[in-house]
Amino acid sequence: MICARCDRPLGPDDDFDKESVDGATGPGITIYRHRLPCRPAVPRQTAPVPLQR
Ligand SMILES: [Zn+2]
Repeated sequence: MICARCDRPLGPDDDFDKESVDGATGPGITIYRHRLPCRPAVPRQTAPVPLQR
C-alpha cells in the first residue's frame, strides 16, 4: 500500500484512511492516505536553473 498523498509506503502499524474511488469506465480503485497529515510528494527538483542575464 502506498499513500496517495505523500507516496510513501504504508505499513500495518501506520494510521491511514482507505478511500474508494469509482472508476468512470471500470471498477474503482482504492487509495490509501495517512490519517495524519503528511506532506504531499513533490517532484524532485534538480538545482534551479539560473536565469541568464
Ligand atoms: Zn502520506
